[in-house]
Amino acid sequence: MEWEPVIGLEVHAQLLTKSKMFCTCPADYQDSSPNTTVCPVCLAMPGVLPVINQQAVEFVIMTGLALNCSIAERSQFDRKSYSYPDLMKGYQITQFESPISYDGWLTVERDGVQQKVGVTRAHLEEDVAKLQHSRDGAGEGYALMDVNRAGVPLMEVVGEPDLRTADEAREYMTKLRSILRYIGVSTADMDQGSFRCDANVSVRPKGSTEYGTKVEVKNMNSFRSVHDSIEYEIDRQIKLLESGGRVEQETRGWDENREVTVSQRSKEYANDYRYLPEPDLPPVFISREWVSDLQAKMPELPDVRRERFQSEYGLSEYDASLLIAAKSTADFFEDALKTSSLEGDALGKRAKSLANLVNSELARLLNQSGIEVSESKVAPKGMAELVDLLDARTISSTQGKEVLEEMFNTGDSPVKVVEAKGLSQLTDSSAVMPAVEEALAGNPQAVEDFLNGKETAVKFLVGQVMKISKGKADPALVNTLLEEQLLAKKS
Ligand code: ADP
Ligand code: MG
Ligand code: ZN
Repeated sequence: MEWEPVIGLEVHAQLLTKSKMFCTCPADYQDSSPNTTVCPVCLAMPGVLPVINQQAVEFVIMTGLALNCSIAERSQFDRKSYSYPDLMKGYQITQFESPISYDGWLTVERDGVQQKVGVTRAHLEEDVAKLQHSRDGAGEGYALMDVNRAGVPLMEVVGEPDLRTADEAREYMTKLRSILRYIGVSTADMDQGSFRCDANVSVRPKGSTEYGTKVEVKNMNSFRSVHDSIEYEIDRQIKLLESGGRVEQETRGWDENREVTVSQRSKEYANDYRYLPEPDLPPVFISREWVSDLQAKMPELPDVRRERFQSEYGLSEYDASLLIAAKSTADFFEDALKTSSLEGDALGKRAKSLANLVNSELARLLNQSGIEVSESKVAPKGMAELVDLLDARTISSTQGKEVLEEMFNTGDSPVKVVEAKGLSQLTDSSAVMPAVEEALAGNPQAVEDFLNGKETAVKFLVGQVMKISKGKADPALVNTLLEEQLLAKKS
């Protein structure tokens, strides 16, 4: 029997507001000492009242717009009760019946076409405190509690069970993260905990229209663990079913070291949470004017930008996709391109050279140091000048890499680096010719081979010339000169 996996993701993103969801404490807790960004509201003292953060509501509306959602006219908060020491009030304020945004979609690629994946809803809630479990010298367990994170605005984006493979799930997450960053509502950093994903996984006989029993996998802190845990879980469930077993509806955790999912608890159902409308907060009425104002302020989204990069600059889909993945990279690319006013073919040619450099060498340097281009020392103007030097063949592509690395480390302009390092390419025949002659004279065997029909001998000779010229000769010119000389010998 063939099995079809069914996957639906629940993603939590911390919102980039200044203050917390229901009080005026700063929402940015990452660098604060434990329990310093707290007040009676987020500490859940008796008698306090929450106040809704308007910016957080706007961010969820914007997310809804970016994800093709409908925006509720009336939205409301609910209490979700459960007891865990990280939940200060004993209940979490969230949205159950009437989320701010609902019924949207984004697309992932399936069999070469873009396939819609439903977004059930995007709603607002609050983050919980952080517990750190330890053991003392006598082996006695204890937990430290930091309440700074409690009350930080959290948006939950619930996806429909429309995904079919771990790769699709990763693409969905990548797109969602990119969109949230484009519209500036979240840093969406998985390793900082501001972007968290729970994966729901089930399998069913291929062709069946009913869903199988799902398992929810939690505790994943990288795209890779989401991907790998889904693959593991699909495999586990198929093996279980094929050996006559049954999938239990449960919550499992991903054990990163052993690369397995482990049962944590049987699934709780909605009525375990005793949801009730939050009596301390009024409903939120979202006027259509508010929505259209926000719509008007929305930046260009990644998919649209990719298409524009293809049509306006003639870039390949591949190049354009790499460029738009991070907004800062796409901005950098366009800023660099706009430093000269080119049109038509010249613009396309320049865009291609620039894209190559940004997507390969610059991407490599950024990856190595784990920063975004906006945080790096390379400016768009410097990058454009570097492309000028390469296009004019003043420096070779190998030298270009060296120059970029220096620009990256020091922030110097490429012209300055080229001067300081004494780089520059020999593009003048008369300057390259002596090296060509030396190579021919020093390698009679290779010349012989060429004359006997072994054309690849030219490559070897080009290498020799480059060596003699200490990498300064323009390889294209070397090639031409060598061929001229060799052909002359042949006749
Ligand atoms: P719950 O009540 O358990 O939270 P929901 O219906 O609210 O379940 O769905 C939660 C998440 O689980 C959603 O992302 C949804 O797409 C996904 N999901 C629901 N049913 C399945 C299933 N049979 N297989 C995989 N994912 C599922
Ligand atoms: Mg759920
Ligand atoms: Zn507070």
